[in-house]
Amino acid sequence: MLGGMQDFELRVPRLIDYAEREHGDREIVSYWADGTTTRTNWSGIARDARKLAQALEKLGMKRGDRIATLAMNHSRHLVAWYGVIGMGGVIHTINPRLFDEQLVYIANHAEDRVLLYDKAFQPIVDRLKPEWTSIEHFVCFDSDGPDSFEALIAAEDGDYQWAEGPEREPCMLCYTSGTTGHPKGVLYEHRSSVIHAMAEVAPNVFDLCNQSVVLPIVPMFHAAAWGLPFAGAVAGVKFVYSAVNDGAVLCRLFNQEKVTHSAGVPTVWLAMFQHMDATGETPEHLKLVTIGGSAAPRAMIERLMGMGIRVGHAWGMTETSPIGTMGAPTWNWEEMDFEARVNQVAKQGRVPFGVELRVVNEDGAEMPRDGESSGRLQIRGPWIIKRYFQDEKGDCVEAGNWFDTGDVAVMHPCGTMQITDRSKDVIKSGGEWISSVELENAAVGCPGVAEAAAIGIYHPKWDERPLLLIVRKPGAEVSAAEISAYLSDKVAKWWLPDEILFVDSLPHTATGKLLKTALRTQFKDHKLPSASAAA
Ligand code: AMP
Repeated sequence: MLGGMQDFELRVPRLIDYAEREHGDREIVSYWADGTTTRTNWSGIARDARKLAQALEKLGMKRGDRIATLAMNHSRHLVAWYGVIGMGGVIHTINPRLFDEQLVYIANHAEDRVLLYDKAFQPIVDRLKPEWTSIEHFVCFDSDGPDSFEALIAAEDGDYQWAEGPEREPCMLCYTSGTTGHPKGVLYEHRSSVIHAMAEVAPNVFDLCNQSVVLPIVPMFHAAAWGLPFAGAVAGVKFVYSAVNDGAVLCRLFNQEKVTHSAGVPTVWLAMFQHMDATGETPEHLKLVTIGGSAAPRAMIERLMGMGIRVGHAWGMTETSPIGTMGAPTWNWEEMDFEARVNQVAKQGRVPFGVELRVVNEDGAEMPRDGESSGRLQIRGPWIIKRYFQDEKGDCVEAGNWFDTGDVAVMHPCGTMQITDRSKDVIKSGGEWISSVELENAAVGCPGVAEAAAIGIYHPKWDERPLLLIVRKPGAEVSAAEISAYLSDKVAKWWLPDEILFVDSLPHTATGKLLKTALRTQFKDHKLPSASAAA
């Protein structure tokens, strides 16, 4: 057949080229750990990324080499993403909140050759340097010395052509914050990253355009920063970065820079609410807040929506680049009252074009989208993992490319997905499942409760029964009986916890999720009062 379209490999450098050419003067603002603020723009990011690519080649870095970062959010970190990928390298964003043992394992497993890091993490670098066997060069992002990032790129002229190659080449490596065993590496490709970025700017997802001012609270080391550094280039947004996650700093930046979009895990919004309650200050320009990484509690959604802010409830994983679903206003939004809207947003939303979801039972048979049948959630699509990095065990997908997420969910008839639990966390009571997530979310709605965790404890009659651990808000005196009474009309009667205990704090993973494995170990031999009655 005569005729056809042009070759255009979907490579990440095309994103920064586009942002430089079409949105070059759109600002990138950084608030640094020392309290100073700097301003550059997409042209400046592109120029510095070319210089970094030159500098890395001079250090002997080659195509496919892994170059790591240990850093918070700022413009130089963004430069590193585009510079490393632009020279054909693989950017490996390491989470500085991991334990030493994991930090050593990850960098050695990735065979990182260069580490770009924040001064704040100098103690980690000093401590682990002898154990990181593959890292040859250490460069500090925010120091002034001859080994600093600025000195490294100042020596270059920026006359550089991005490395060309196939779109299926790798460009980025992120490790899962696994709660059991070693973390596993997820290798993103140029093509998967570009398609994911194009899907993300859509109105039903992050709703980004050239007018958007985005302050991502999600760190650049958490699941590819939810794809925002790439999606931001597609849309030509203004980015406002803060290397400090503090309610007062963030709220001031929200208002000073007229931030319209923000994204982060639920705990960062709790910190923001505490600041708002203490000072009366509120973010004035926010239009869309995306919450993901853990289920967004209903009370949080209500509060933000009550302020006239749209809430995007995102579900995803490191393995899914990470966007799997996003809750957005539905076609009949105008006909819904506030309560119905909150109910909708409290679920995890729908898939954008590209990915497909299904829920299967124990035998692998697909369950109906009836809003009731729960089972294992599986996903497939062009930005979903096929095999972990350097995994000798082979592909991690089932027939038909379905990746089992380890989450338990129901699908509603309209296509909305609702996570009910992690498969390892469901509480198995008398052959039926109790959702630990739903119990926790209901409990944090109770006045005086700051945080809640529900785990299954051995029970001679029921196999497992729920134990609810509560952290009270400062100064609150809420009792177990009051919490139980509060829960009684929010969950099924047989879901009510057999025991409620108060703790000073709960353990979290490096990305702010409740660390249920640690709690299960801690309460391994715990005896519920109801157990002795049954025995
Ligand atoms: P990570 O790869 O560390 O981001 O962890 C991914 C896991 O976080 C998912 O498999 C879910 O269990 C959980 N998760 C992420 N987003 C949500 C959400 N909106 N609601 C409930 N769980 C979530």
